[in-house]
Amino acid sequence: MPLIQQLPSHLADMIAAGEVVERPASVVKELLENAIDAGASAVSAELRGGGMSLIRISDNGCGIAPAELPTAFLRHATSKLRTEEDLSCIGTLGFRGEALAAIAAVSRIEITSRRRGAARGACMTLEGGAAGAVEECGCPEGTTISVHNLFFNTPARMKFMKKDSAEASAAAAVVQHEALSHARISFKLTRDGAEQLYTPGDGKLLSAIYSALGREFALSLLPVEGSGGSVAVEGFVTRSLQGRGTRAMQHFFVNGRYVKSPLLSAALEEAYRNQIMKGKFPGCVLHLSLPLDTVDVNVHPAKTVVKFLNERAVFDAVYYAVKSALEQGREYPVAPAPSVRPTPPPPTDPTAPPKQNTPCYQTMTAQEFRAQAAPGKPLTSFSVRQSAAAPVSEWGGAVTVSDSIQPVLKNIPPPPAATERMPVPAPQEAPAPENAAVRPLVPTPRETLAHPTPSPAADTPQTDPLAGQERLEPAAEPPWRIAGEVLRTYIIAEDSQGTVWLIDKHAAHERVNFDRMKRNAEPIMGQQLLTPEAVTLSADECAVLLEHLDLLNQFGFEAEDFGDSTILCRTCPAEIDAGDIAPALEEIAGQLLGAGRADPASARDVMLHTMACKAAIKAGMVSDERELRVLVDKVQKGEIQFCPHGRPVKVKLSRYELEKMFKRA
Ligand code: ADP
Ligand code: MG
Repeated sequence: MPLIQQLPSHLADMIAAGEVVERPASVVKELLENAIDAGASAVSAELRGGGMSLIRISDNGCGIAPAELPTAFLRHATSKLRTEEDLSCIGTLGFRGEALAAIAAVSRIEITSRRRGAARGACMTLEGGAAGAVEECGCPEGTTISVHNLFFNTPARMKFMKKDSAEASAAAAVVQHEALSHARISFKLTRDGAEQLYTPGDGKLLSAIYSALGREFALSLLPVEGSGGSVAVEGFVTRSLQGRGTRAMQHFFVNGRYVKSPLLSAALEEAYRNQIMKGKFPGCVLHLSLPLDTVDVNVHPAKTVVKFLNERAVFDAVYYAVKSALEQGREYPVAPAPSVRPTPPPPTDPTAPPKQNTPCYQTMTAQEFRAQAAPGKPLTSFSVRQSAAAPVSEWGGAVTVSDSIQPVLKNIPPPPAATERMPVPAPQEAPAPENAAVRPLVPTPRETLAHPTPSPAADTPQTDPLAGQERLEPAAEPPWRIAGEVLRTYIIAEDSQGTVWLIDKHAAHERVNFDRMKRNAEPIMGQQLLTPEAVTLSADECAVLLEHLDLLNQFGFEAEDFGDSTILCRTCPAEIDAGDIAPALEEIAGQLLGAGRADPASARDVMLHTMACKAAIKAGMVSDERELRVLVDKVQKGEIQFCPHGRPVKVKLSRYELEKMFKRA
């Protein structure tokens, strides 16, 4: 057995660094949190090469005294924790005293800092944790830390890094979360010299949301404000009609800290029960404030998981606050929105009159809550601020709901209707179906809008509904007939044996598409969009799509990074509607973030599933009889049984079963 020895400190630091510094995003997180803990009102982050060549964070916080500069980089050196008791009520974001030591161990660092009110500042450099001399220097109040060449001395770690764009997106997500949890601080992010994010730091959560998550999302929101027991909930949730394809737009914060929590997601989603379309998820930015000693933030090294002492109380507080917001939301169709691009306010202007009628977000302290909520107060005393708090658009004019559903991003107009795949003839122009039993129901005005009437005479045969897809002309006299379609979803057919078939047209078409695409080794045809489509996603979603650009390309999406968590699509698969691009990308990203990222085969399956679904005729859509005939034929031949998700495509009713239902047998 070799001799037992204590590890040299630089080696111990490098090992410890592995736990704190996983990728550039973790460095950004630690440094931003230090700046926030230092009381900064403005923080800027600069990234180069996805953060691998440079991460520079500057703040105007309290600064570090020259004599303390070397101490700040020692392991377990912190100014935020003194005694064991302090551990049970942590009020700062950092407290372990590990971050600076860990980052320094795996990079080259330059730090300059000047304490507030001090005449001069000081600077110091470190390489692989070894500190140089502290030198006096002139610099603004606050601290700037530049981290160069991350992992330069740990090549093994370097290998795990993804493409620059993916690392930068992950780091951008961190800045986004900090900006959303600190509306009073102005955040700026630049990436390779280009500004990516800027929040005004005006204390309004909505301004931060608008700047960090985009106009479209900001316009889809309703304000939430409520408290139950000692838990206060404040923020915004999406209207029920504006659900998202994934949970990626659910942003929860507990006492100012971004957290991922199945409990909070469940409470949120429960409030939307029966109000949101199946398969859609609400988005939110919700801040929970609760006494520090009722929440444990120490359960996870990355500190995004929390444990609540009273889970029921937390669940109820979120559930009731959101439910009330949705109920109130029905009464006012005006979406709140901040000014177009908020400009930073002067640092402090005590003479400025407070703005009226604007929802002002402010985190309450635990003490304020304790004072408000009597101990053991039952949750039935749940309170919600009434619609006096209903926001009024700061744009002066009313923002109508229709504004909020237009895909206007970065001033790029919505894609032209020319890219739509299956134009549905208007009822008066519809060609008479060959089989008089199948009559498309009259489309609602909304549908007519969504699928404009083709201008040429409607009986021209060029509008083949399955154009570009596998054609299969059923035999001239098939041993079955279509008796009709009900609920614009289920085909009713009867075969020569007197058996009745109910067929889910969407599920059946999805299966047909899936099988065809799976068989087909060739790349899927892309259609050039006249105007590229910009799709804004959450930073995580964006990052995962950027990692899979090649795969997207194989499926007909020619896409590129457009900054600001936005993907710019220049082509889309020929088989999907332009309107389906955003939902498809959202869904693909969501699935890739789940199981699909594991290996290339499952990533491909994710694409196949989504594409098969998006290219399929939808339930509720008016279908051409020829489409339905192809599907019935496939079912009759036994070629399709289940949709790619495993749901049955058809239900069979024998004459005997029908007769039994009617008490004839
Ligand atoms: P922790 O944040 O857990 O205390 P760190 O290693 O991140 O540990 O930082 C060590 C100490 O350095 C902090 O406790 C704080 O006193 C000081 N410090 C770090 N960053 C800053 C900053 N941007 N401004 C002022 N002080 C800072
Ligand atoms: Mg820290």
